[in-house]
Amino acid sequence: MDTNLENIAKKIVIAIDGPAGSGKSTTAKIVAEALKYIYVDTGAMYRAVTLAWIRENKEYNEDNIIDLCKNIDITLENTSLGQRTFLNKQDVSEEIRSSEVTQLVSPVSAIPKVREILVDMQRKMGENGGIVMDGRDIGTVVFPNAELKVFLTADIKTRAQRRYNEIINKGVNADINSIEQEILKRDKYDSSRETSPLRQADDAIEIDTSNMTLSQQANYVIGLAKAVINEINV
Ligand code: C5P
Repeated sequence: MDTNLENIAKKIVIAIDGPAGSGKSTTAKIVAEALKYIYVDTGAMYRAVTLAWIRENKEYNEDNIIDLCKNIDITLENTSLGQRTFLNKQDVSEEIRSSEVTQLVSPVSAIPKVREILVDMQRKMGENGGIVMDGRDIGTVVFPNAELKVFLTADIKTRAQRRYNEIINKGVNADINSIEQEILKRDKYDSSRETSPLRQADDAIEIDTSNMTLSQQANYVIGLAKAVINEINV
């Protein structure tokens, strides 16, 4: 695309969905950077609500969590360290990746009212386009009219290996079999919940990334996005 055109071209919404460990976030980040779009990691928002609930130290009770969700402040900010997640103005970007949050996030995000509140925030973030949003229901619920929808998949062994490498690279010990079990459990929960289950939108392009490198999958999505942007800006 003509670089000058980039400034005036209509900015689209790119929805990237898929199961845990399929490389959504990393791909979405690279795509957003290449297009100078805003990247939104919706999983981080559900994780922040889960962390807030863990901190409250209260029993699992939908009403408590909904109440909490209405009264907390969640923001995503793009900094030189990448996108950071703030809970009540505190940077919780590392804490929301803990295994405790990971194990509890699915039941919290299955609560319909929690989804309603966060989906509302996500729609506001993307109302002017120029956004790459990743999650589980972006193409089906949050932005059903997104100009580009991508559904990333990869076989379970590959997904577990990617998560394992990520953890090991942070200098933390990990067991690949438990990671695989955790991913399978979370996918099952996310796919079988009643409200906005993890599902490929009918008009999403499925990309199996099992045998792709990160840059291959990101470049593939960037190519798809540029084609859509060119098409709507003729
Ligand atoms: O993407 P990530 O693995 O960080 O998401 C954490 C969890 O948040 C998912 O397992 C799912 O339960 C929930 N989630 C969701 N809808 C989204 C994004 C994430 O339900 N759009």
